[in-house]
Amino acid sequence: MEFMPDFKLYRPTKIEEAVKLHNGNSGTKYIAGGTDMIVNVRRGIEQPNALIDLSAIKDLQKIKENGEEVSIGAGVTLSTLANEPRIKKNFSAISDAAASVAGPTHQNYGTIGGNLCLDTRCLFYNQSEWWRQSNDYCLKERGSLCHVAPGGKTCFAAFSGDVAPAALIHKAEIEIAGSKSRKRIPLEELYTDDGMNHLTINPGELLCAIHLPKSKIGISSTYEKARIRGSIDFPLAGVAVGLKQKNKLIEEIHIAITAVNPYPRKVNGLEKFFGKTIANGELYEIDEIVRRQARPMRTTTVKPWYRRRVAGAMARRLVEQLIKS
Ligand code: SF4
Repeated sequence: MEFMPDFKLYRPTKIEEAVKLHNGNSGTKYIAGGTDMIVNVRRGIEQPNALIDLSAIKDLQKIKENGEEVSIGAGVTLSTLANEPRIKKNFSAISDAAASVAGPTHQNYGTIGGNLCLDTRCLFYNQSEWWRQSNDYCLKERGSLCHVAPGGKTCFAAFSGDVAPAALIHKAEIEIAGSKSRKRIPLEELYTDDGMNHLTINPGELLCAIHLPKSKIGISSTYEKARIRGSIDFPLAGVAVGLKQKNKLIEEIHIAITAVNPYPRKVNGLEKFFGKTIANGELYEIDEIVRRQARPMRTTTVKPWYRRRVAGAMARRLVEQLIKS
């Protein structure tokens, strides 16, 4: 770890003030809990001229509800989400995912906005400055070569946030504040399949809330991840499953995966199970569908084939668990 570099620190109390202070400047970064950002600054991965601390903006820390939706401010901490009764009851994959992030200290500081906007990760990128320098850096940062796939010009660093797949299966939308207005987009439109530039958010825009439609209440959901150390690590693979059934017939089934692609992705091709019962054969078919859509690369110390297999196996197990619940 390096010493903290010099930078200006701002602490606005309003969303609009934060966006104005940022002004689209590439050297300025937002910081909420800082559990990922500070590590990246200490490693020289992020080299900001200025940080805008969002922790004094009260509007980012509220959970609101109306007839249509539950809205979670981007500054709500993961520990709040993990324990909030409305989220636990109606959107349980989200509270499961929040409770699975690192350990309790990280959950007390880390926020849902930070987790959704987490940078992609790679064994060759999330290292100290001297380590990356001795490897001549890489495509994602200051280098000209990808150490994972040396022949190409694509970065395969994996998105490793836990909450995004859980929010995807509940059809979440996000609210983004810009310098002139706010916009709402489906959460899946926040991401692109590019480890170097995986967020579609423009410089200076601020993710300020996540909205969960109540029309999807009734879907039972859950989230599970595989990791090296159960007490702290990022996922090697993470799976969220949402399922609604009536008289043993599947009305809806949704699966989303994380940590096995540069973006959290919804698994395609599950509509074929709507209106049917799911038995052992279908469970193994789901396992195979998930495995095919997971594309882990050599971005962790654990082999890609294992991460692909475990993603499929977790999906199969979670679907079975929800069917029996
Ligand atoms: Fe760098 Fe390649 Fe890893 Fe991307 S996948 S962070 S370019 S080594």
